[in-house]
Amino acid sequence: MNAAPKEAAPSDVPFLSLREVNARYARALKAAAARVIDSGWYVLGEELAAFEREFAAYCGVRHAVGVGNGLDALSLILRGYKELGALTEGDEVIVPGNTFIASFLAITENRLVPVPVEPDAASFNLDPACVEAAIGPRTRAVIAVHLYGQLADMPALAALARRHGLLLIEDAAQAHGAMREGRKAGAFGDAAAFSFFPTKNLGALGDGGAVVTDDSALARRVAALRNYGSEVKYRHLYPGLNSRLDELQAAMLRVKLHYLDDDIARRRRVARRYCDAIHHPQIRLPLVAREAQHAWHLFVVRCSRRDALQRHLQSQGIQTQVHYPVPPHRQPAYAFLRHVRLPLTERLHDEVLSLPMGPTLGDDAVDRVIEACRTFACSP
Ligand SMILES: *Cc1c(COP(=O)(O)O)cnc(C)c1O
Repeated sequence: MNAAPKEAAPSDVPFLSLREVNARYARALKAAAARVIDSGWYVLGEELAAFEREFAAYCGVRHAVGVGNGLDALSLILRGYKELGALTEGDEVIVPGNTFIASFLAITENRLVPVPVEPDAASFNLDPACVEAAIGPRTRAVIAVHLYGQLADMPALAALARRHGLLLIEDAAQAHGAMREGRKAGAFGDAAAFSFFPTKNLGALGDGGAVVTDDSALARRVAALRNYGSEVKYRHLYPGLNSRLDELQAAMLRVKLHYLDDDIARRRRVARRYCDAIHHPQIRLPLVAREAQHAWHLFVVRCSRRDALQRHLQSQGIQTQVHYPVPPHRQPAYAFLRHVRLPLTERLHDEVLSLPMGPTLGDDAVDRVIEACRTFACSP
């Protein structure tokens, strides 16, 4: 079992301090909140429209549609494609076995069939060869998860999707601002889902999400589906749902989007220091593809004695987390996937440990993490 990270003592190095993250912009956030409060308009208004324009421009795509959270963003993409006739109930969707459960839930919520595949051991991301091997007669889509903030091999996956006539969807919930060859996460697939959960690289002060796409038909369908399937008030074209990014959150995100690239640059500096200074025979550092520009949502090391390492770091006042302890196909919620064997995925879930990472992590804190790793004893 993993020791659950305890409440941070003042001297502890926190895994991520959301209070510190948002304190940097407190004045701008409060001014934006006041603007919304005073406007008297709280859902589907000008703040959301402006954020959608600004976030689409940031990602380099034509459309962004703000929704209630990242899971709904992913789910609404699939639902939109079902409504547009590109997906049918029972179709198979290839998904990395090594992901947060939301990637699976969006598939099963739409009565589609998840086909989990093993990741590439070095990058933790989809291995195009494993994807190709999993394609069958009912395969219609691939969900690429940019796990931990590193882009999956999108050029290879896009070529494969084209060759087999598959939709390519990005789960970019951990990868706002990650880049490759001058393009940002969200600009590679047919559509991409983002989460603005507070801990993400671009986090709201509550739940939020967005669908981004160049596909105007999909954008329009998702925009209707999130609002009771309606384009015109009280006329309902589709059986939709209620999942909207509200004006307050849109206003918070407009403030924070401004600083996203600076925040990612700080995360890169932390990652570089960890990579330069952590040398331990039992701690494997993340391998980063040269051409990828990692957004470092998480800094994840591997250790075959992961639980001992986590306890040691905790004893030194260093908070860590595990992303994730149990893969989706081994969760009680997915008993029907019990027969699936993904040995690499399962081993990764036993070995991964996320070190403190964030845009407010100071040099002293990074030094303490490095020192605590150095003093991890090689035998129990
Ligand atoms: C956070 C996350 C989601 C879900 O986002 P929510 O806003 O929490 O619904 C989906 N996929 C991945 C990979 C995530 O990390």
